[in-house]
Amino acid sequence: MTIAEWRHKLRRGEVSSKELVQEKIKRIRALDPKVHSFLTIADDLALRQAEKIDQARSSGEDLPLLAGIPLAIKDNLCTKGIKTTCSSRILENFVPPYESTVTSRLWKSGAVLVGKTNLDEFAMGSSTETSAFGRTSNPWDLSKVPGGSSGGSAAAVAAGFCFGALGSDTGGSIRQPASFCGVVGLKPTYGRVSRWGLIAFASSLDQVGPFTNTVSDSAELLQVIAGQDPNDSTCINTPVPNYSENINKSIKGLKIGLISECFEQEGLSKVVKNTVLKAALQLENLGAEIIDIKCPRFNDGIATYYIIAPSEASANLARYDGVKYGYRSVSAETLAEMTALSREQGFGSEVKRRILIGTYALSAGYVDAYYKKAQQVRTLIRRDFENAFRQVDILLTPTSPTTAFDAGKHSSNPIEMYLADLLTIPANLAGLPAISLPCGFDKGGLPIGLQLIANVFEESRLLQVANQYEKAADVFKDSPKNDFVL
Ligand code: GLN
Repeated sequence: MTIAEWRHKLRRGEVSSKELVQEKIKRIRALDPKVHSFLTIADDLALRQAEKIDQARSSGEDLPLLAGIPLAIKDNLCTKGIKTTCSSRILENFVPPYESTVTSRLWKSGAVLVGKTNLDEFAMGSSTETSAFGRTSNPWDLSKVPGGSSGGSAAAVAAGFCFGALGSDTGGSIRQPASFCGVVGLKPTYGRVSRWGLIAFASSLDQVGPFTNTVSDSAELLQVIAGQDPNDSTCINTPVPNYSENINKSIKGLKIGLISECFEQEGLSKVVKNTVLKAALQLENLGAEIIDIKCPRFNDGIATYYIIAPSEASANLARYDGVKYGYRSVSAETLAEMTALSREQGFGSEVKRRILIGTYALSAGYVDAYYKKAQQVRTLIRRDFENAFRQVDILLTPTSPTTAFDAGKHSSNPIEMYLADLLTIPANLAGLPAISLPCGFDKGGLPIGLQLIANVFEESRLLQVANQYEKAADVFKDSPKNDFVL
């Protein structure tokens, strides 16, 4: 069922929010020990929130859009009074004194927080294995990773622990786990959604977005979180359209471009390629025109990203110095030693690797050769997209070159892990909105994701095409079974 369908049931009193929340909490308690998608389960708070909504309904009050709907939040979004760890020892005991803009908008709309979800430490990773608090498993096959970094949110939605979740996407962290877990994941245009209260990784790339079961649910959550925020100067003051309005419109005559470079990748699995091409055919049957498009700089995305993102991370993570907040080493004798030891003990190895790369790339003598060059290539990648969108309305690629891989498979080889984001990173570098939605399964029954990319601020069109495909393909009605019957 979609969020809209639950809303009608809740409003008609056929089910109470308390019942919904109780059912989700029961499911989480019984099954999450297998998946480990949550770091914090907020049962008490959730039940209290739900009771409030139920009371408001029985006294005849007008209910907001998401009233009574249970949602999960990635643990790098600040929630006032609720631990927010970023899956890092350095923030293990951090209880934010304020609420992020996106979550406060959700609570204002009546949504209910069921818990905070696991991620790769500081959102750096593609498998949710670098979390300091243990890895998350893929609900479709517990021996596989759920993708990352928002693997906890993707797995929680796939396992039916909540109706939707928020994640963050710096280089693919919403779309790639959505693809691995068979759910819908949307990264909005850079600047569409406030980053205030999102613990910063790479500020020019980070964007918050929803995980949901369906495209129409995605439109609903985006509706609530999008829009200007005086606390985030990069969040743009343009009107937020009604995202649900056009999703049922026909896509007849729309031009959809297949990015040639994506389909020529060496590491692209055959079944992923064929399934995604079949999806393109289905879109053609719905009346879209399919065109091949060249984006010659597409493959330079990874190299560019792995200079820019670590550079920004090295600056953003300088604040964890053991002084202001977070973990402090007690074994040091001098201030400098205290800072060094706190960082050494508080950060995991992937985070340290990024800080080292970033600090190096920004240092005098190297900044022109690395950081500046990367920014120039970033511009070239953006121009490729600008050129593409002169010819087509939407671009289409696979979300990830493979389906979910075995836990541990790439853990000791960072380059292999980085390649998981080959197809998602360019949209972040260019600030474009992009969505991943399920389009089929491999032979092992693991979900395959289709990525659609639109021009800036064209989320409405993105959702329209995605929704038309979803309705025609019907893939989303499948859900993980074996281990998930209560
Ligand atoms: N996997 C990519 C990285 O490790 C992207 C992460 C993200 O989008 N937060 O940086």
